[in-house]
This record gives sequence, structure tokens and C-alpha cells, in this order.
Amino acid sequence: MQDISHHLQAVLRRMAIASSQVGRDAADIQLLAVSKTMPIAAIVEAYEAGQRHFGENYVQEAVEKINALADLPLTWHLIGPLQSNKTAVVAAHFHWVHSIERLKIAQRLSAQRATDLPPLNLCIQVNIDDEDSKSGCHVSDIEALVKAILPLPRVILRGLMIIPKAGNEVAFQQLTALRQHLLATIPTLDAAVFDTLSMGMSADMEAAIAAGSTMVRVGTAIFGQRKQQILE
Ligand SMILES: *Cc1c(COP(=O)(O)O)cnc(C)c1O
Repeated sequence: MQDISHHLQAVLRRMAIASSQVGRDAADIQLLAVSKTMPIAAIVEAYEAGQRHFGENYVQEAVEKINALADLPLTWHLIGPLQSNKTAVVAAHFHWVHSIERLKIAQRLSAQRATDLPPLNLCIQVNIDDEDSKSGCHVSDIEALVKAILPLPRVILRGLMIIPKAGNEVAFQQLTALRQHLLATIPTLDAAVFDTLSMGMSADMEAAIAAGSTMVRVGTAIFGQRKQQILE
């Protein structure tokens, strides 16, 4: 586990090289450390190495970690699927949810977000390349979903997220183009707020950065292989 700091530096180097190769500023790309299944000690180690943003997939597991680490100035992102019976606990604990795929979940999060907390940041998960998968909003439904989320008072629509099929790096460019299309067709969508493209993981962060990613979600390259799978 003493490798986490080194791994983190290596990932930041990869991000810096990938961005400079396409003339982007590395400061425009946020690293989200995906700590699912990893122990609290691993998160603390990453924190001590300078990492502040962490991504978790499983609500129950995440809430235990968030509560245990409440004294640290961390930003918590839910990147796994969210069922409606868990929206209240998510609204109470997280700063970001990347996996919005239908209006009902966004409405519940907005209604349940306490007024003494800042609005919850949301990204819509887009199903660009996988017709069979149930994960993500289909492209044809995105515009209506964006328009319906925008007026919700306690959430802020920050952008789009994608988990493409392995090797389908064209999907990253498609997500960038989809953001541009939405900005061009929905006048009330503010590019400075709707500024996030959550895409790229350990194996494909370079391609995602080349295509315009603003947030890469990296687990294995920081924390090593995950041993267990937690099912909710
Ligand atoms: C697990 C996970 C990641 C991190 O994947 P690695 O290949 O370990 O970097 C990123 N995004 C999502 C949605 C995940 O579930």
C-alpha cells in the first residue's frame, strides 16, 4: 500500500503527458481516484499524497467511508448505479453523482438535498455505444432529460459521463460532440457550468484526454487490482 503515492504520481504524469501531446492544460483535467472496494487506509494514503476527489460505486460502502473520513476535506463522487431507494442517503453524503440516467432520480436528489448543503453536482451517464446495456441514457433521450433537470433547484447539471465498451475510443469523441450539440441547441445551458466530460479510466485515460475529457476516473492504476466485488 506504500505504492499508492508512487502510483498517484505516475498517473498524474500520464495525464500531464497526454494533455501536453494535444496542447491541453493539465490543470483542466481533474483526477478522480476510484476507491471502490479499497480500505479506508488506502484513501488516507492517497489523501496524504495530495488526492482530494474520490469516486465510489456502492452507496453503502461509500457512506461508511465518507462518515469515517468526515474530518478530511474530501470531495465524494458516486459513479455507480443509483436506485431510487438510495437517493436520500446519497443526497445527504455526496458532492457529485455521475450516473444519472433518468429524471426521477434527479428529481428525488433535488427534493432531498438539504438546503444547508451546496447543490448536488450531477452528470448524465450516456449510453453511446451499447444498445443492449441498461446503463445510461440513450442519446435520443438526452436533450429532453437535460431540459428537465435544468430547472431543478437543488442540483446543478455539470456534464456528461460515459463508460464505453473496452477499446471503443471513438465514444470519447462522440461524447465531446454530444456536449457541443447540447450547448448549441439548448440556449439555457451554460458552457461554464455544463463543463464536465467524465471519461477515461486506468486503461484509456490518454485517449479520453485527447478527446476532451475533463475528469478521468482511475482506480486500478492508483490502488492496484481490486480483489473483491461488493454486491448490493
Ligand atoms: C471501477 C470504475 C472505474 C475505475 O476503473 P479502473 O479501470 O480501475 O481505473 C471508473 N469508472 C467507473 C464507473 C467504475 O465503475
